[in-house]
Parts: sequence; structure tokens; C-alpha cells
Amino acid sequence: MFGLIGHSTSFADARRKALELGYDHIAEGDLDVWCSAPPQLVEHVKVVSKAGNKIEGAYIDSCFVPEMLSRFKTARRKVLNAMELAQKKGINITALGGFTSIIFENFNLLEHRQVRNTTLDWSRFTTGNTHTAWVICRQLEINAPLVGIDLKKSKVAVVGATGDIGSAVCRWLSERTGVSELLLVARQQKPLLALQEELQGGRIMSIQEALPEADAVIWVASLPKTLDIEPSMLRSPCLMIDGGYPKNLDEKFAGSGVHVLKGGIVEFFEDIGWGMMELAEMEIPQRQMFACFAEAMILEFEKCHTNFSWGRNNITLKKMDFIGRASVEHGFSALKLKPELQTPVV
Ligand code: NDP
Repeated sequence: MFGLIGHSTSFADARRKALELGYDHIAEGDLDVWCSAPPQLVEHVKVVSKAGNKIEGAYIDSCFVPEMLSRFKTARRKVLNAMELAQKKGINITALGGFTSIIFENFNLLEHRQVRNTTLDWSRFTTGNTHTAWVICRQLEINAPLVGIDLKKSKVAVVGATGDIGSAVCRWLSERTGVSELLLVARQQKPLLALQEELQGGRIMSIQEALPEADAVIWVASLPKTLDIEPSMLRSPCLMIDGGYPKNLDEKFAGSGVHVLKGGIVEFFEDIGWGMMELAEMEIPQRQMFACFAEAMILEFEKCHTNFSWGRNNITLKKMDFIGRASVEHGFSALKLKPELQTPVV
């Protein structure tokens, strides 16, 4: 069985969804009440892959909402409790979705393996970052030509280049795609220099320096809402892949002629009878999902019960090849630009 741990996109949204699901007592509570609410297994689902493999899964809502991010102990407890529930339900492989994988890494939850009388077995969990990185790379490769960008002659900026997903994307783009130049953007210089050495290339730049030069930009850092980007400083055409969470770049560039694609999202080949992706506000919730969630499904289809994506900067090209091949075989495809957005800008 596969599992997905997720959360609502806001407190207001979570309350609305709780009312719909009949959890009235929680729905009416304030943020303090929600802070003490336990995780809920809200849905079971059966899925058959394009290759004919049959699996079962469950969606666990961690009852975390982004408004709790500043409450360090609450955020930590929410993620650990959801993981404990997944393990107690006997789920073989569970993906940590949305902010939960970031909380796991940034709040160092590896040191908190004991949750009451349960010792968490890390091999049952995956961040899903390998599949996310592979999907983002494929989204770039597939969509760039559709808007008139020849990647072999193009500069691609990776914002969040030293992160788990960003570093994997950089490895793929430099080894496999073969872009003309990689522009490496992050705040800390030391990891940037280490990445540059590993890649034997790439130019370290600030966001403000990189954007006017980039033909394509991959965003794999959660960016502050205040980040101010003047659309007129961007190249035309410019393809932006919004791989961060939350995905808010299309608002920044609405109507500016820059092509913005929601990154790290896949579509299954047929409808899945679940309601869980409505919580994540997917455009086609019966088919679309975060690539990290799909990684848990793929691992279950493949009977590969291991923490496939774990820790930081462990994503190899070999792992990306494996998950990419299995993704296609089982019926997932990377989200493309809508047809009306594909016309090259002249
Ligand atoms: P990491 O924490 O490993 O990496 C974050 C990267 O962003 C680092 O390189 C960091 O470097 C950089 N960064 C952070 N803030 C800034 C800033 N203000 N300016 C420039 N660079 C910055 O994160 P992950 O790789 O695990 O995840 C990256 C993003 O992808 C997250 O937003 C996550 O939510 C999202 N994600 C999306 C998924 C999907 O859509 N399917 C699935 C999983 C994750 P430094 O600190 O030096 O600046």
C-alpha cells in the first residue's frame, strides 16, 4: 500500500474542507484547536497503472496548515504524528508532500525517530524529490521548443540550485539535456562553489543578475511573496518552471507574455477515483498530482519499498533514470503548457 501525507493550502481552506468532510468540531475551532488536532486518514483508493499493476493507497491529512510554520514544535509534531499514523496503518511507502518534507529536513526530524511507542522506520517514507526533479527536467525539455527556445543554445537559471531538487536538476541539465550555460542561484556561496566544482561548470549569480540573461528559469526555492521581479527585465521568450511550493509565480507574471508552467506536477493517464487532489487545488484533480506523491505510487507499482528519495543531495542520474522510466511505463506524464500558451513569442 502507498501513502500520501499532505495538508491544506491555508487555514481557511482547511476549515472549509473539514466542514465538507463532517469534522464540524475541528472546523469551527481556532488555530490553537487545529494545532492540537491529530492527523486523519481521510481516503482510501485503488489504482491500476497503464502497465496493468494494481495498488491500493491512502491519503493522510497531517492537519498542518502553512500558518503553523512559525510554530516550530507544532509543525514538528504534525509531521511526526502523520508519519506515525502511516506506519501504524501498515503503509509500505509514504510520500511527504507540500511543506511536510521541508519541515522534516529543516527541523531535523531524523533525530526524532521515537513517536510515543512507535519507532519510525525511515525505509517506509520518501520525500519524492527524485521524481519531482526528473519531472521538472522533462517539463523544461518538452516545453522549451513549444515556445521557441532551443535549449542547446540557451542559458537556464536554476533558482535554488544547491537544494535537493535543484542540485539534481543541475546534474541532469548539464549531463543529459546539454544546455548552453547553467546559471546557479542560491544565497550561500559555499554550497554554490561545491556544486560548481561537481558540475565542472555553471555560473554563480544573484537572482537579479541571472534573470535578464536566462532563456528559461527553474524555480526550486520557496520564495518570499515580497520578491519583486520586473517582467520587462526578462528575455522574450522566457520559460519559467514554477517548481517551488506554494506555486505563486503565475500571479507575478500574469499578462506579461512570459510563459509560466506549474512545475513538478504530473497527470495520470486516466481518472483516479479520489477526492484528495481537490485539497491540493489541482486543475484536473482526478488525474493531476504533485510528482512527489506520484513517486510513492510508482514505488508501490514497482514493489520498490525503500526510502528512495531521502536526505539532501543524494539524487543521482541513475535514480532519475529509474523513476523516469517507471513513471512513463505506469501512465504518468509531465504537465505541459496549455495550448494557448504555447505560441512562440515574437
Ligand atoms: P531545499 O531546502 O533542499 O533547497 C532550497 C534551495 O533554495 C537551496 O538551494 C537554497 O539555498 C535556495 N533558496 C532558499 N531561499 C532562497 C532565496 N530567497 N533566494 C535564492 N535561493 C534560495 O529544498 P528542496 O529542494 O527540497 O525543495 C525546493 C522547493 O521545491 C520547495 O519550495 C519545495 O516545497 C518544492 N517542492 C515541490 C514539489 C512539487 O511541486 N511536486 C515536491 C517537493 C518539493 P540557500 O539557502 O543557500 O539560499
